Amino acid sequence: MLDTIPEKIEHDQTLLRIKWKDGKECSYDLLNLRKSCPCANCRGGHEIVTKRTTDHIKTISLASWKKVGRYALQFTWSDNHDLGIYTYDSLREACNKGVEYAPPGER
Ligand SMILES: [Zn+2]
Repeated sequence: MLDTIPEKIEHDQTLLRIKWKDGKECSYDLLNLRKSCPCANCRGGHEIVTKRTTDHIKTISLASWKKVGRYALQFTWSDNHDLGIYTYDSLREACNKGVEYAPPGER
Protein backbone atom coordinates (compact mmCIF):
# COMPACT_ATOMS: atom_id res chain seq x y z
CA MET A 1 0.00 0.00 0.00
CA LEU A 2 1.57 3.21 -1.17
CA ASP A 3 -0.29 5.36 1.30
CA THR A 4 1.34 3.80 4.34
CA ILE A 5 4.93 4.28 3.24
CA PRO A 6 6.59 7.56 4.24
CA GLU A 7 8.54 9.37 1.58
CA LYS A 8 9.82 12.17 3.78
CA ILE A 9 9.93 12.53 7.55
CA GLU A 10 10.95 15.69 9.34
CA HIS A 11 10.36 17.34 12.67
CA ASP A 12 10.84 20.59 14.52
CA GLN A 13 10.29 21.58 18.14
CA THR A 14 6.60 20.81 18.18
CA LEU A 15 5.59 18.83 15.12
CA LEU A 16 6.46 15.68 13.24
CA ARG A 17 5.66 15.87 9.55
CA ILE A 18 5.29 12.88 7.27
CA LYS A 19 4.88 13.08 3.56
CA TRP A 20 3.54 9.75 2.35
CA LYS A 21 4.35 8.17 -0.97
CA ASP A 22 0.86 8.84 -2.26
CA GLY A 23 1.51 12.57 -1.77
CA LYS A 24 -0.56 13.18 1.36
CA GLU A 25 1.14 15.26 4.04
CA CYS A 26 0.36 14.79 7.71
CA SER A 27 1.60 16.52 10.82
CA TYR A 28 1.57 15.22 14.36
CA ASP A 29 1.89 17.05 17.65
CA LEU A 30 5.03 15.74 19.35
CA LEU A 31 3.64 16.07 22.87
CA ASN A 32 0.58 14.08 21.90
CA LEU A 33 2.74 11.41 20.27
CA ARG A 34 4.84 11.10 23.42
CA LYS A 35 1.82 10.99 25.71
CA SER A 36 0.20 8.39 23.46
CA CYS A 37 3.27 6.16 23.39
CA PRO A 38 2.06 2.67 22.52
CA CYS A 39 4.57 0.76 24.64
CA ALA A 40 3.34 -1.34 27.55
CA ASN A 41 5.12 0.80 30.16
CA CYS A 42 3.36 3.98 29.12
CA ARG A 43 0.03 2.25 28.72
CA GLY A 44 0.21 1.11 32.31
CA GLY A 45 0.12 -2.58 31.43
CA HIS A 46 -0.34 -5.06 28.64
CA GLU A 47 -4.06 -5.56 28.85
CA ILE A 48 -6.73 -2.95 29.32
CA VAL A 49 -5.35 0.52 29.79
CA THR A 50 -5.99 1.64 33.32
CA LYS A 51 -3.74 4.63 33.83
CA ARG A 52 -1.18 6.00 31.46
CA THR A 53 2.18 6.82 32.96
CA THR A 54 2.60 9.72 30.54
CA ASP A 55 -0.18 11.98 31.85
CA HIS A 56 2.23 14.21 33.76
CA ILE A 57 4.41 15.03 30.75
CA LYS A 58 4.15 18.72 29.89
CA THR A 59 6.92 19.32 27.40
CA ILE A 60 8.87 17.04 25.13
CA SER A 61 11.08 17.20 22.12
CA LEU A 62 12.24 14.58 19.71
CA ALA A 63 15.88 13.58 19.96
CA SER A 64 15.88 11.19 17.01
CA TRP A 65 13.83 8.65 15.14
CA LYS A 66 14.45 5.54 13.10
CA LYS A 67 12.50 3.23 10.88
CA VAL A 68 11.51 -0.17 12.20
CA GLY A 69 11.40 -2.65 9.37
CA ARG A 70 8.95 -1.51 6.73
CA TYR A 71 6.05 -0.85 9.00
CA ALA A 72 6.80 1.57 11.81
CA LEU A 73 8.79 4.40 13.36
CA GLN A 74 10.61 4.37 16.66
CA PHE A 75 11.24 7.70 18.40
CA THR A 76 13.84 8.62 20.96
CA TRP A 77 12.37 11.40 23.09
CA SER A 78 14.11 14.08 25.09
CA ASP A 79 13.23 12.17 28.27
CA ASN A 80 15.31 9.26 26.89
CA HIS A 81 12.27 7.07 26.34
CA ASP A 82 12.45 5.00 23.16
CA LEU A 83 10.27 1.94 23.64
CA GLY A 84 7.29 3.01 21.56
CA ILE A 85 6.78 1.55 18.11
CA TYR A 86 4.42 3.74 16.08
CA THR A 87 3.11 1.85 13.09
CA TYR A 88 2.62 3.64 9.80
CA ASP A 89 -0.90 2.27 9.69
CA SER A 90 -1.87 3.85 13.00
CA LEU A 91 -0.19 7.16 12.15
CA ARG A 92 -1.83 7.31 8.77
CA GLU A 93 -5.20 6.31 10.15
CA ALA A 94 -5.17 9.20 12.64
CA CYS A 95 -4.30 11.60 9.86
CA ASN A 96 -6.99 10.25 7.55
CA LYS A 97 -9.57 10.71 10.29
CA GLY A 98 -8.26 14.12 11.30
CA VAL A 99 -7.77 13.11 14.91
CA GLU A 100 -4.79 13.01 17.25
CA TYR A 101 -2.66 9.89 17.17
CA ALA A 102 -3.75 7.16 19.56
CA PRO A 103 -2.31 3.66 19.83
CA PRO A 104 -4.41 0.79 18.51
CA GLY A 105 -7.17 -0.02 20.96
CA GLU A 106 -7.12 3.32 22.76
CA ARG A 107 -9.36 5.53 20.72
ZN1 LIG B 1 6.36 4.28 26.11
